[in-house]
Amino acid sequence: MFNNAMELTGKNFIAGQRTGSGKAFQAENPATGKMLEQSFYEASQKEVDEAVHQAEDAFNDYNKKSGKQRADLLEAIADEIIALGDVLIQRCMEETGLPEARLTGERGRTVNQLKLFAQVLREGSWVNARIDLADPDRKPLPKPDVRSMYRPLGPVGIFGASNFPFAFSVAGGDTASALAAGCTVVVKAHPAHPGTCELIANAIQRAVEKSNMPAGTFSMVQGQSTDVGLAIVRHPLIKAIGFTGSFRGGKAIFDEANKRTVPIPVYAEMGSTNPVFILPGVLKEKREAIAKDLAASVTQGVGQFCTNPGLILLQQSEDGKAFKDTLSGSMAGSAAGVMLSAGIRSNYERGIEKLKGATGVTVVARGKSEGEGYRGVPSLLEATADSFLKDHTLEEEVFGPSTLMITASTREEIIRAAEKLTGHLTATILGTEKDLEDYKDLIAILEQKVGRLIFNGYPTGVEVCHSVVHGGPYPATTDSRTTSVGPAAIFRFARPVCYQNFPQTMLPDELKNNNPLGIWRMVNGEMKR
Ligand code: NAP
Repeated sequence: MFNNAMELTGKNFIAGQRTGSGKAFQAENPATGKMLEQSFYEASQKEVDEAVHQAEDAFNDYNKKSGKQRADLLEAIADEIIALGDVLIQRCMEETGLPEARLTGERGRTVNQLKLFAQVLREGSWVNARIDLADPDRKPLPKPDVRSMYRPLGPVGIFGASNFPFAFSVAGGDTASALAAGCTVVVKAHPAHPGTCELIANAIQRAVEKSNMPAGTFSMVQGQSTDVGLAIVRHPLIKAIGFTGSFRGGKAIFDEANKRTVPIPVYAEMGSTNPVFILPGVLKEKREAIAKDLAASVTQGVGQFCTNPGLILLQQSEDGKAFKDTLSGSMAGSAAGVMLSAGIRSNYERGIEKLKGATGVTVVARGKSEGEGYRGVPSLLEATADSFLKDHTLEEEVFGPSTLMITASTREEIIRAAEKLTGHLTATILGTEKDLEDYKDLIAILEQKVGRLIFNGYPTGVEVCHSVVHGGPYPATTDSRTTSVGPAAIFRFARPVCYQNFPQTMLPDELKNNNPLGIWRMVNGEMKR
């Protein structure tokens, strides 16, 4: 038990123990370019192995805990995170350059997300219990008693992203959904915010102890080299991976998992360009407002959102020209903000340079560049639909405050551009009712391309709720059937198990005849409680 939840040690968390004497590294403050004082110690292969073995041991106990007990754990984690108070926010501001209000909001979202999973566990019906009662008199063959429900996969490896140091990191949606499903977790801390990771790990560890869960339920390893994360992915006892981050990182991990003797599911949520289609009717009616709102959405949080609108598609017209003038003015007037790290900033500048070098792409506007630290300058670029159709790289994510405006000369070109899109997290349609009627085929195409379709809104801002889908076809994710946000994320870490002709006493409570948990179940094809 560690008494001082606020104290940083730089060590790894292995099933309640702190270890670490490996290679030291420090976090950098992206707002000043100065290294922060605390050293963190990269986990050895032996430490990763120990963490995973402990996770496996703990799994054999944790997977038998009731939904209510797991809900207690998730709520305790939420309480412990809040108890870290301002120390957490201040450390995170230093490591990420993100402003206090944003981080306070993100902490609230993270805590509420944990509580939402707890509610789902207490309600209990998520396990999708199905019961087909036996019929010994059925002819020509008797029917067996067949029952099934979701059960947890086993120890899960989790990787967070730098741009959501709370909501997609150590206690983010991946950890919350894996713990909710009944899996134990080994987290790879993000090297850009290791102190934030340690504070949160401390909160989880305390919650594990207070809730009397086995110590190996949660471990976290630090590391700057990809070796640490890959050791988790390769470990034979790991049964699934939850990843949020770049396409490069997610694909490397996905490929590594597929090289294993026993491949495992990798739920990698990667980058996205989130196309926004502005249809002719609404462009005529609201072009000024749309241009200003879009500029705000592109530059919000220095564009460091996986839902950032990085592609705008519209048809050439006088309204389009006026829209471009307003958008260009708004982008040019936007200030460069501090980005999350030196690496994120240099990737951003590299991405802009690559786009600029592509055939047919021109820079329309650049924002103001002054200020200390690693700043990302807002950028508006432009290309014709013809160039877009010829060069698939124009669709790639440039992570930061930029967007590429694609102008089509005909409606048909807009449709062809939509057909050519790969997978994205979101697609947005801005239009009037008549536009929608006129572009029904566009909606049908986009439904095949993304996880979330937005009408007359903007993609930034993801509501954490039961029906949300934060996912999409490759390359947005490595498994288009899932979401990484909202309670449905739990299904990624569970699989259906069927019990045939089992005695009542040996069945899980969820499947017993008298339904002791009072959950919704499908009995002989009908939903019942
Ligand atoms: P990142 O560089 O891919 O890092 C994410 C994690 O993966 C880190 O722990 C990183 O550790 C690890 N990693 C990266 N490459 C690896 C490799 N080859 N082998 C093993 N581990 C590897 O991503 P980021 O820059 O932190 O986050 C920004 C990106 O995340 C953006 O592209 C954004 O769109 C995306 N994102 C997506 C979502 C979503 O839900 N789809 C949400 C938020 C962010 P190391 O640094 O030690 O390698």
